[in-house]
Amino acid sequence: MAPLPKYKISKAAQGKHRSHLAIKAPGLSTCPKCGEKKLPHRVCPNCGTYKGEQVIAIKAKKAKK
Ligand SMILES: [Zn+2]
Repeated sequence: MAPLPKYKISKAAQGKHRSHLAIKAPGLSTCPKCGEKKLPHRVCPNCGTYKGEQVIAIKAKKAKK
């Protein structure tokens, strides 16, 4: 039999424990080329540039179905 907690955790203690578990929104930076919001330290998904260099080719603008 697996070890079990000796005492029941009250709902207050459980809530305090879970107070740190919420998901936060990711930080956003702005692309210097197209001005679109993007994740920091990642290639811009809109224009495909990173640090002013074209890294990936973007085939068509706004062809997202
Ligand atoms: Zn961009």
